[in-house]
Amino acid sequence: MSDAENPSNPTPDEQTDFEPVQVFDDETEMDLRPGADNCYKCTTCDTTCPVAEVDDDFPGPKFQGPEQWRLKRKDDEDIDDSITSCSNCMRCDNACPSSVPLSQMHNTARGEYVDKQMDKLSREYLRNRLLSNYRIMAEIGSKVPRLTNFALNNSLVQKVNEKVLGITSERDFPEFAEQTFREWWHERGGAQVSSEEKKIAYFHGCYSNYNTPEVAKALVRVFEEFGYEIAVPRQRCSGTPMFANGMLDDAERAAEVNVSEFSDLIDEGYDVIASCTSCSMSLRQEYPELFEFHGTAEVSAHTYEAMEYLRIHEDLESEIEDASVEEQSFAYHAPCHARNQGLERQAVELFRELDGVNIEDVGDSCSGISGTYGWKDEKYDTSMKIGEEMFDHMEHAEGNVGMTECPTCSMQMEHGTGYDIKHPLQLLEEALV
Ligand code: SF4
Ligand code: SF4
Repeated sequence: MSDAENPSNPTPDEQTDFEPVQVFDDETEMDLRPGADNCYKCTTCDTTCPVAEVDDDFPGPKFQGPEQWRLKRKDDEDIDDSITSCSNCMRCDNACPSSVPLSQMHNTARGEYVDKQMDKLSREYLRNRLLSNYRIMAEIGSKVPRLTNFALNNSLVQKVNEKVLGITSERDFPEFAEQTFREWWHERGGAQVSSEEKKIAYFHGCYSNYNTPEVAKALVRVFEEFGYEIAVPRQRCSGTPMFANGMLDDAERAAEVNVSEFSDLIDEGYDVIASCTSCSMSLRQEYPELFEFHGTAEVSAHTYEAMEYLRIHEDLESEIEDASVEEQSFAYHAPCHARNQGLERQAVELFRELDGVNIEDVGDSCSGISGTYGWKDEKYDTSMKIGEEMFDHMEHAEGNVGMTECPTCSMQMEHGTGYDIKHPLQLLEEALV
């Protein structure tokens, strides 16, 4: 039988009449999120989620990520409101053996939930917006630090905050410093060291500027000791609390300023250094996952955590082996976002070689506060349950001073144990400067 006689083989004329079947609507935005379909339901991510471990109602990262993404292919599906119970600790990212971009999916889902489903006049939205924009609150509060510190830690004000805004009254607000880091920086006349080869642009973030300028000053003194020229450009919040609360428009505005300022300096030979591991995480991973500003990839590729950078570029180990400090013992907690960057062992490995120091890692559990999460009235108990393992290990460690790189982990460590908490840069300053 010839082709023309065979009904399953159309003639050339018939072929030109062929109308392809339209499988996808032209208007449909095809978001195939690379990696989303790699999930093979092993549930490893669920077993590493600290929220799922203590909260039976939380369906876990597998549901928040790939399962919800599949459900969303149907037009009439809303984002499940349990997305607001994910603390954005990002531990599930590291746990997945199949490289599913879980935290990217959570951030996108949370952003969509807030944008399309959250009542913008609700107490929850207003509270989350306020907490996410801590920098604005801090800018105002630090103009009159004594008055703000007194007011925010007044028990009546705390009760009102809890009733009206849903901010827990169980925690004491971190105190604002009398002088911000940036004020100190300008008062001393900026950089004291010039160098053609060794240049860093410091991303101090909000907390080191307004609350713990001693950490930022320690960074300046340590890097200048090693001969680095330091720039402190204009900057906004790294966006970490905004991602965690689904405020992606706020995060995008902040990121645009940060990328523009820091990418200009990268072009002049600077690397970007952060003293907070969540800030470095945000610039390195979340910016390129969520934004496409000119310079985003360069900022991501040139951002480092402070001690990580010194370990790469200086012989920090030898310097520490030759130094000594007064006898002191630390209970060290590695923040989840430090783990995501592979930095969880560096402080312990380095300081155990420092004469006078005893340092103990208190394990790999999450501190539970996850930035703004533990400040929410309805999340406070979950946050403290997650923190129990860390508190317990801290109390059993020899040291009664805590150490961590993350400002909110340090709040939780102090809150759960009553210990003073140091940043590794403060011990580096004591040892080397
Ligand atoms: S760990 Fe990865 S592959 Fe396993 S269930 Fe979670 S997302 Fe899926
Ligand atoms: S980011 Fe943390 S809290 Fe959120 S789903 Fe992943 S492991 Fe759980």
